[in-house]
Amino acid sequence: MIYVIEEKCIGCSLCVKACPFGAVKLVEKKAVIDLDACTLCGACVTACKKQNAIVIEREAREDVDLSAYKGVWVFAEQRDGILMNVAMELLGVGRILADKLDVTLSAVLLGSDVSDMPEKLIHYGADQVYYVNHPLLEQYQTDVYTKALVSLIERYFPEIVLFGASSLGRSLAPRVAARIQTGLTADCTELEIDVDRRLLVQTRPAFGGNLMATIIIPNHRPQMATVRPNVMIPLEPDLSREGKVIEVKDIALEAEDICTKILEVIQAADINVNLQEAEIIVSGGRGLGKAENFSVVRELAEVIGGAVGASRATVDAGWIPSYHQVGQTGKTVHPKLYIACGISGAIQHLIGMQTSDIIVAINKDPDAPIFDVATFGIVADLFDIVPVLTDTFRKKLGK
Ligand SMILES: Cc1cc2nc3c(=O)[nH]c(=O)nc-3n(C[C@H](O)[C@H](O)[C@H](O)COP(=O)(O)OP(=O)(O)OC[C@H]3O[C@@H](n4cnc5c(N)ncnc54)[C@H](O)[C@@H]3O)c2cc1C
Ligand code: SF4
Ligand code: SF4
Repeated sequence: MIYVIEEKCIGCSLCVKACPFGAVKLVEKKAVIDLDACTLCGACVTACKKQNAIVIEREAREDVDLSAYKGVWVFAEQRDGILMNVAMELLGVGRILADKLDVTLSAVLLGSDVSDMPEKLIHYGADQVYYVNHPLLEQYQTDVYTKALVSLIERYFPEIVLFGASSLGRSLAPRVAARIQTGLTADCTELEIDVDRRLLVQTRPAFGGNLMATIIIPNHRPQMATVRPNVMIPLEPDLSREGKVIEVKDIALEAEDICTKILEVIQAADINVNLQEAEIIVSGGRGLGKAENFSVVRELAEVIGGAVGASRATVDAGWIPSYHQVGQTGKTVHPKLYIACGISGAIQHLIGMQTSDIIVAINKDPDAPIFDVATFGIVADLFDIVPVLTDTFRKKLGK
């Protein structure tokens, strides 16, 4: 609940300027808050700290015994029987969090006949794996996955649950959070532990990346967060690591739990689009000049077995669909090789690709910021260079 203490308000309008959502206005020299527009972000409270005229009261849930929740969980995303890399990345950070809290790190695996996966999850850092093996879990369907995961949480009480911010994780995590009435922070880039208060300290970009917000969930459990693929570093697998596999067989999943029916799964027309798993990415920027010229990038990608990426400028121009976009508002990628063609290297683009192992930048402008992160820089017209690269690789690879 938020309210203004009228007697304290001097009508200075600092809160009006501070509110990013336009939810405060002055009426007869007193601040008035539009409760429908207010997101309870707290910016006005900070702006008014001299007068202390704005108060936000957040109720602690008295019905929740926070101390009953123990352990860190990682949702182990698999698709079509393949474990997604983000599961291993989350186990990497989950291991650090669990060790700081001195608790068990568990992976949660939902699927049908994916019994080879628990061992791999243990090799990557899990102490134990909760495994629900059921034909209805073969393909991701939100309602049945939500039911299975909520049942597990209500039975075992983890204090932290992490998901990949993939399309699947972004669909599942908010539903689970809503069902169990807890908080969820999306797209975290850093996770830390406040050991004394056993709080997950979640950092994520806010307001278009102009500031980093640190978020905690003090009154609810579990604390839930999604983390973008390719942000956290997985541990080196330890093949000698042993752990417990807990197959949970008594969760009642019924076909009636599913309101939707999958008639057919159609792969995206562009098979090279799975940027987040790609080892090689060839990306195009505004330097391509027009949509048709993406063929130059596509050809090179095809010959060297890479995926096609893009800057936002090209997506905004309608040259290529948005799921190719790399960067702050696109995908975060970590390929072995990233070739940037005609991309200037704006910070919002760099955020999404600068951890690539090798970056090759091709740009006419020697001062383009992309060269600051490039392993190899080629100052040249991309239309002179990229076709030569394509031909050379084609010959070398016998394609
Ligand atoms: C909140 C917010 C979020 C954003 N999120 C993203 C994001 O997720 N991803 C993203 O990419 N951007 C994002 N942006 C946009 C970003 O700021 C840049 O505008 C964008 O990355 C620029 O794209 P570009 O490099 O293709 O174009 P430009 O900046 O126009 O650069 C084109 C480059 O091509 C070079 N060039 C031109 N012709 C040739 C040629 N023939 N051969 C070689 N080089 C040539 C030029 O020298 C220039 O350096 C975001 C911006 C904001 C404000
Ligand atoms: S900042 Fe505080 S004192 Fe100033 S108008 Fe807003 S509520 Fe009133
Ligand atoms: S809490 Fe945030 S959204 Fe609400 S009025 Fe204050 S600044 Fe605006």
